[in-house]
Parts: sequence; C-alpha cells; structure tokens
Amino acid sequence: QRLIDVAASPREFDRMVANYAHPSGDLAFRRSLAQFLAAEYGWPLGVENIALTAGSQTGFFLLFNLLAGGEANGSRRRILFPMTPEYVGYADLGVSDDMFVARRPVIELGDDGFFKYRVEFDRLVIDTGIGAVCVSRPTNPTGNVLTDNELDRLDTLCRAADVPLIIDGAYGMPFPGILFTEATPLWNENVILCLSLSKLGMPGLRTGVVVAAPAIIRALTSMTAILSLAVSGAGPVLAQPLLDTREIMRLSRQVIRPFYQHKAEVAVGWLERALAGVPHRIHRPEGAFFLWLWLPELPITSAELYRRLKAQGVYVLSGHYFFPGLAEPWQHRDECLRVSFAQDAEVVQRGIGALGAEIRRAYSEAS
Ligand code: PLP
Repeated sequence: QRLIDVAASPREFDRMVANYAHPSGDLAFRRSLAQFLAAEYGWPLGVENIALTAGSQTGFFLLFNLLAGGEANGSRRRILFPMTPEYVGYADLGVSDDMFVARRPVIELGDDGFFKYRVEFDRLVIDTGIGAVCVSRPTNPTGNVLTDNELDRLDTLCRAADVPLIIDGAYGMPFPGILFTEATPLWNENVILCLSLSKLGMPGLRTGVVVAAPAIIRALTSMTAILSLAVSGAGPVLAQPLLDTREIMRLSRQVIRPFYQHKAEVAVGWLERALAGVPHRIHRPEGAFFLWLWLPELPITSAELYRRLKAQGVYVLSGHYFFPGLAEPWQHRDECLRVSFAQDAEVVQRGIGALGAEIRRAYSEAS
C-alpha cells in the first residue's frame, strides 16, 4: 500500500527516486526515527545522532575500519568480540589483517536440557589495543540475548576504557523485536546501536541505521559521501510512516515476534524428537531465528556433518565459522551447528529429520 501511495505522490516519488538523499541518509526519516526512539526510550537523540547505511552490514564495515586497524603512529587497534560464537558476517570486514580478537564464553547448563553462553568477565580486559567492543543482541548464530546485567557491565567496562560499545540489533529492539525474553535496550553517548530494516521483512531495500554520538555520525557520513555519495531513499521513504504512526512497534510485538517464537518452539520439538537418545544440547532460544545445536560427543566434526548434509540438499551452517577473532584452540567450535527455522514449517521439519538421520549414521559408522 505504501508503494502505491508513493507512486501516486510526486513529492514522495521525488524523495524516493528522483533525488540524492543527504549522505547521512534521508533527513525526514532520521528526524522521525530520533523522535521515535526519544519517545520510546527517553534517549536524548536528534538527527545528528543518526546515520543510514546500505544495510547494517555496510555499517559494520564502515565502523570497524573507522575504529580499528592501523593508526597514524604505527600502532594498531582491534575490534573485541567479548563473547563468541558471534556473527560470521563480521569475519572478513577488516581492510587490514588481524582486525579482530575474541573471547570464549562460560557455558551454563540449564536443568531443562538447554544451555546458555555467558560473558566470562573474569578474563575480559579492554586494553589500549582495543578500538571497539561489539556484540550482537540477539546473537546470530546462537539466539542468545545478553542479559541486562551483562550489557551494563560491558557498558561500564567500555566507558572506563573510553572505547565505544557497538550493539548489533539486527534482530533486536525496538524493531524487529525478535526476542523471546525480557531485555532492556541500551544507548548512551558511548554506545553505537546498529539497527536494520532487513529482519522486518525488507532486506532488499538495504537500509541500516547507526545511532551514535555526533562525531561517529560525522565520520560515517564522510565515508558514505566518498564511497557512494548517498544512501538509497527507498527504505526510508517506505518505512517512515511505520515510525510516525508507531505501527512498527505493533508489527514487531504482535506479528513478527510471535511468528518466530512459535517457529522456534515447534523447531525445538522436532529437533528433540530427531535427536532422542543422542547426546546433545540446544542453546536456549531467546531470539533471532536460529537454533544452535551442541553435539559434544559427535564422532565427526561439524564441518564434515555440514558437508554430508549439503550433499543431500540440507543446508545448516557448521559452527566453526562463528568464532571470528578467536585464536586459541577450542574443540567446542567443531561440535556445534546453526539451524535456521525461518523457512516454511514443512521444509524445516524435513531438514531436521535429515539432520537427525545423518547424526545417527555418523554414530553408527563410528561404533
Ligand atoms: N547483523 C547480524 C547479526 C545479522 O545476522 C545480519 C544479517 O543476517 C546483519 C547484521 C546484516 O544485515 P543487513 O545488512 O541486511 O542489515
């Protein structure tokens, strides 16, 4: 409907198609978003706090290379992932080598058969070699949601070290809000919050949002101006009424979240049935649209399991991809899989059935 409205309005059509937007992104959209976030969370934001990028993936490329890499004085700084597994899409974003450093989590085993990763604060040091700390919340691939307490502690450590904290909210708050647990969003002048229209159902529009201190926004704006002159107006023009009417919150809370929560619950049931009797644990599904499966006694690596399933047309991702920046050896890396439950139920159910059968085959070969 919005597309039809835009096509019928010379002013809106002009804004979407016939003009370059500001290099920080469409001004009216940024104004609406600043007002929306201020009203929703009380954050003191204006347009000077918001830059748009061609998808949040581009935002991470710009931010990581802005905040880490070689310095003019010959030293170098890295992006710290305080808890892996972490989003595989970060892995190759550095224009220089060796841009990332990462930490292992603590593994908490629940009484209900699930497990949950937690930040290991005892081993977390943010020294002068760190340019920024980055977490996805909810996390791709695990569906973990860092607790408010963990996020507050990271925020405190980052502020004490004068290092920005990047929070990747591609699945998070306020939109698309794919969280199945209580969590409070965080922003202050030291936080760089990255959002996206993609998981709201508009990945083709390539609209990412960065909410940060004005100095960061100015730097991103310069980078966009140099790289691409401007960001597309399509996403902003299509989505702005959703912000102005707050419909975006209703959609997130009443449509998108329940849709994925239901899918998660059903997929857990199928996975439990497919793996009955096989030693396994599933990460507590708290958000996003993946199940993270841990097979601690699997006789083959997760990479081999991935290859065998791919040969049958079943696509899961091997867990070992999801440890960008983790230098130390850790067998756990080869024991996990990411299973997406975003597709149609019938496809997911069939895939999980094939996964269970292949895992059983691996065990019987080994015995
Ligand atoms: N961050 C996470 C955790 C993701 O899973 C993705 C995409 O899957 C992105 C960022 C990038 O999304 P986009 O560039 O479409 O905004």
